Amino acid sequence: MYRTPVVTVDPCAPNPAAIGRAAALIRRGGLVVFPTETVYGLGANGLDEAACRRIFAAKGRPADNPLILHLPGLAALPALCRELPDLAHTLFEAFSPGPLTLVLKKSALVPAAASGGLDTVAVRIPDHPVALALLRACRLPVAAPSANLSGRPSPTALSHVRGDLDGRVDLFLDGGPCRVGLESTVLSLAGEVPTLLRPGGISLEQLRAAIGEVAVAPSVTAPLAPDAAPAAPGMKYRHYAPQAPLVLLVGPQDRVLAYMRAHLADRRVGILCYEGEQDLFSAATAVEVLGAPGDNEAHAHRLFEALHRLDRAALDCIYAPLPSSEGLGLAVRNRLLKAAAHTVIEV
Ligand code: AMP
Ligand code: MG
Repeated sequence: MYRTPVVTVDPCAPNPAAIGRAAALIRRGGLVVFPTETVYGLGANGLDEAACRRIFAAKGRPADNPLILHLPGLAALPALCRELPDLAHTLFEAFSPGPLTLVLKKSALVPAAASGGLDTVAVRIPDHPVALALLRACRLPVAAPSANLSGRPSPTALSHVRGDLDGRVDLFLDGGPCRVGLESTVLSLAGEVPTLLRPGGISLEQLRAAIGEVAVAPSVTAPLAPDAAPAAPGMKYRHYAPQAPLVLLVGPQDRVLAYMRAHLADRRVGILCYEGEQDLFSAATAVEVLGAPGDNEAHAHRLFEALHRLDRAALDCIYAPLPSSEGLGLAVRNRLLKAAAHTVIEV
């Protein structure tokens, strides 16, 4: 028996009554799950300390992992930050609405709960008709992390959300599957040099083509030392993880495939592979295909759906190839490294 009501909305032209109901809930301090082009978000009034705290409670999210404030356009932005660098305008013009989050020095309007106690605020304009309609109707910045329990794979369809958050939130808006399938790129403009804190739906190559120099935070590809203070606090936790341990394989693809095939016996093994390879794994318990080899966009779109499906197979172990870091591959690689807690075997 499900407890949180679900309202199905047309992802292109959402019903105004459904949007009005969701916005009224958020304005009263409630929690509403809604679709964006990246993943499903768990939304609350981003200017209300208590509402933001309810997000952390519903997700079991550590209090030092800040939230992204979602806006329908740039009008509300100046009130949320102390400084609005020219680069922010350039980047929002180039990539918004879209999967780019900017970290800026925050104004006093942003509650400490939303910023995880940091002096900065993360903002984004999502590119999804349902999210935009909801944000316009709320007339408030909506704090919205991914709508999963902390540590679990992010949800790219409402069925993924329900398993994690049913009974913990006030309303689900179901707008079908998410187009991008990975979270937004997080770029900090609060320091000397623009710094990529989390790779996502906008690639590092796209950012560099738009603004030139972009540094990459070490936590994007390397495991953090246990006592290090990460630039994006979310990056320090084991994250995006399916229930079974995930092991990543790096090396020539024929050797990766041979290693996987040699490790199928006597256990319930799940395999993540590329199109054309699935027939090699008829002895595996579960096989998920990410897309054609090299099609990083398809891999990004499929990754979380594939992890959710593997979760349903009650596996002992999952093997996956470590993706390249080109284009959206960097984001897929980052999510898999976090999900595997950096367990990588060279073959
Ligand atoms: P989620 O909304 O669940 O996708 O997580 C938001 C991500 O943005 C986390 O990795 C946060 O650490 C990061 N983030 C949000 N606000 C800030 C901020 N002010 N400074 C640095 N990173 C942030
Ligand atoms: Mg998240």
